Amino acid sequence: LLRLQGIRKRFGTREVVRGVDLVLHPGRTLGLVGESGSGKTTLARIVAGLETPSAGEVSWGPLLQRAAAGRARPVQFVYQDPLSSFDPRHTVGTILAQALALRFGREPRARLQARVAEWLARVELPAALASRRPLTLSGGQRQRVAIARALAVEPRLVVMDEPVSALDVSVQQQVLRLIATLQRDTGAAFLFISHDLGVIRQVSHAVAVLQAGALREIGTADQVLTHPRDPYTRELLAAVA
Ligand code: ATP
Repeated sequence: LLRLQGIRKRFGTREVVRGVDLVLHPGRTLGLVGESGSGKTTLARIVAGLETPSAGEVSWGPLLQRAAAGRARPVQFVYQDPLSSFDPRHTVGTILAQALALRFGREPRARLQARVAEWLARVELPAALASRRPLTLSGGQRQRVAIARALAVEPRLVVMDEPVSALDVSVQQQVLRLIATLQRDTGAAFLFISHDLGVIRQVSHAVAVLQAGALREIGTADQVLTHPRDPYTRELLAAVA
């Protein structure tokens, strides 16, 4: 779906991403794990096209290229703090309707409202929430709205940057279960970023370990998390064992 080759990113004199190669596959989730400051967010923004690399190549496969020609914004981004990406003046219904309009264009009001209701149901939120503003929702509800908005445009790739890190543990589990369901149902690829190995383990088919801007190890979730080859990965795993 998407390939990164030799990606580097420099801010001033500091190189925060130092030569990363990876491939994302349709319908698969790559978990990207690393300590704070290891460059996860920068790499995620490069994958999502929100940041230009200083060197290296981001190549879109045919599936993503075709999607870009036919549908709006085939790559979507979900932030740790959904509020940062919502207009606080808009209701949840408006936020979802705007995303749906990107995908389906102008539609009769009733049709649009039905789609909004359908997405609220898919992220397990009551229909009445459509008339509320994000500031009046709980953190878990806000993140569900952000997830619905991202998936409503039927993207091929969803980049999630620490989507459950700000939630308390029980809400985290609910949102992770929801993400797992949507992974299965949508067939999109996911790049899922977290500093938390437990969270990464729950959602990832493959895992990449980033340290100081470079990939230490990348492989299937089982290989990396159960039989790590790299000493740094072993250290990370030992720290949470
Ligand atoms: P965290 O988990 O704490 O968010 P991270 O692994 O996502 O960390 P990044 O946010 O990618 O790491 O940041 C990597 C380094 O790049 C940090 O030292 C950060 O200060 C620096 N950095 C990120 N964005 C910029 C920017 N726009 N200008 C300058 N430096 C930046």
